[in-house]
Amino acid sequence: MSITSQTVELMPVDIARYAGDGVPSHVLSWTAAAPGPHVLLNALMHGNELCGAHALDFLIRSGLRPRRGRLTLCFANVSAYGAFDPENPAASRFVEEDMNRVWSAEALEGGRTSVELARARELRPLFETADLLLDIHSMQTGSPPLFLSGPTPRGAALAARVGLPAWIVSDTGHAGGRRLIDHPRFTDPDGAAVAILVECGQHWRRETADLAVQVALRFLLATGAVDHDDVADWLSAVPSAPPHRVQVTRAVTASGDNFHFVREFEGMEVIPAAGTVIAHDGETPVTTPYDDCILIMPSRRLKPGQTAVRLGRILP
Ligand SMILES: [Zn+2]
Repeated sequence: MSITSQTVELMPVDIARYAGDGVPSHVLSWTAAAPGPHVLLNALMHGNELCGAHALDFLIRSGLRPRRGRLTLCFANVSAYGAFDPENPAASRFVEEDMNRVWSAEALEGGRTSVELARARELRPLFETADLLLDIHSMQTGSPPLFLSGPTPRGAALAARVGLPAWIVSDTGHAGGRRLIDHPRFTDPDGAAVAILVECGQHWRRETADLAVQVALRFLLATGAVDHDDVADWLSAVPSAPPHRVQVTRAVTASGDNFHFVREFEGMEVIPAAGTVIAHDGETPVTTPYDDCILIMPSRRLKPGQTAVRLGRILP
């Protein structure tokens, strides 16, 4: 792992004060007098992705309340977060299993148990009432920030309304299990609820938390939970870029223990020529399937059955 991806500028914020005394813990919710959607911001799906906790802490301390509808702020994998160690910052992604691969009825209703499944089962009734959900994450590498808007047009449209970050990546998830944004509530073609995931930058950089705050504020605006005057003092003058849309055409899954890239990719590199070898999966070369293929979130944690990189096409 490179030096930059291990440098820890960001430390956890104290979320013990947000535990509450009910079940689920670490969930704050306010309902306005005026009607409106249930807007939910989720942090810490992965315990070592500190930026979301910083963003929710900022919103709570700012005293923001919804103008309409219901606003919920949720700290998901608090067990993993509590184990964060700046000497070994990657270790606290989860306690027993990746919490963002368990959002299928099979996993949630099956007989298997884990720290993450127990917490997911607690939070499930809450998420299943969310109308507009932002799941706040960060990345291993220094890739430009991006939205993962899932498979639906309404996901991509919501990400475009938020407007920051400008990269909007439509995809269908992982072979390794279902993400929260892929839950049927948010992906049913006949449904209306929308969930998007934002990757705010490298896990432990200061600027990643700053971006998470900006995305959270813009999400509250885009969903109508707050008005512009409520957040104007905190909105940074980020130049608004037109959205860049990307369609993921393939998630490359490592088949064995011997998957390696031909060089260190950060993410969002555009490979000009079709047929370029970008990695080897054992003896099998992994090549780009078309010209101007974009590499999304190359993993530095290459394990069999897990996504190594996604390949995408930039949409006009
Ligand atoms: Zn994550």
